[in-house]
Amino acid sequence: MRGLVPGVVAFTLIAGFVHAAEEPNTLTIYSSRQAHLIEPVLDLYTEQTGVAFNLHTGKPGPLLERLSANGEDGDILLTVDAGNLWHAAQRGLFSVLGSETLTRSVPAALRDPEGQWFGFSRRVRTIAYNTQATSPEELSTYEALVEPQWKGRLCLRTSKKVYNQSLTATLIAHHGEEKAEEIVRGWVANLAMAPFSNDTKALKAVASGQCDVTVVNSYYFGRLMREEPDLPLDLFWSNQEDRGVHVNISGGGVLKNARHPAAARAFLEWLSQGEAQGLFAELNQEFPVNPEIPAVPEVQVWGEFKADSLNLSETGRLQAAAVQLMDRAGWR
Ligand code: FE
Repeated sequence: MRGLVPGVVAFTLIAGFVHAAEEPNTLTIYSSRQAHLIEPVLDLYTEQTGVAFNLHTGKPGPLLERLSANGEDGDILLTVDAGNLWHAAQRGLFSVLGSETLTRSVPAALRDPEGQWFGFSRRVRTIAYNTQATSPEELSTYEALVEPQWKGRLCLRTSKKVYNQSLTATLIAHHGEEKAEEIVRGWVANLAMAPFSNDTKALKAVASGQCDVTVVNSYYFGRLMREEPDLPLDLFWSNQEDRGVHVNISGGGVLKNARHPAAARAFLEWLSQGEAQGLFAELNQEFPVNPEIPAVPEVQVWGEFKADSLNLSETGRLQAAAVQLMDRAGWR
């Protein structure tokens, strides 16, 4: 018996060492970005590196609840909108990534100043209009949608969606709460009908002439026009003469409880560059975050734009104030 013990100890040590030094063969990702918008990217990584993935998808809210409640041992969290990423960071789900590659690849406005989360694709939340009912000459800014000329011509999505909460948070950041509330009240006063449950319904209402303008994420416009290219719809880049249009992200970070933190970080670094960066954006008709990577031609035809340079962590910090403001202003 006594002779066996050192042998067992030695075996355990060697096995432990081999395990630690080994590349993990599977990374676990929690994602509120839909599976079909990420799987081709994961497949490409597996092909290039041999690293496989366990992908769990779900809605942002429940996913964050699940991760914070019992510290599931995932490696990476991907989600949409900086408002959600900010919440994940507030709950202490992410580790801090001091990654030079990520800092270089992702512009400062599109990542957490503390290095907990990073954007991997950009979507523009801007004005969409009916090309038969109005023209770009009539359009200028989000703020100008309060003008009397838009009375009964504006459609909006519900204020319950984080996309609108983030947009409203940028109004607070730029104008202060009082002025921001005035703007939102002006929008509500100009509504043609009750807010819609999603951007596509708002776009269809504009296309059918129930209203003339709305505010949507650019990829919903892209998706609808791919299905129905003859719709009388176009995008207008808002606020080009002043701060620039509101751009948000889908993004992510490495989870604090990651079993493979180094490999998880290596994957995110890969995602922020080159072919992966282009593919990740292309899958959802989005814009790459990395300025070295061009958008695909079908997105490029929407034209160049100036983006608001406000750091997106502000949309999280001001989200609670935005939600209360929208409620006070009657945006349902
Ligand atoms: Fe979306």
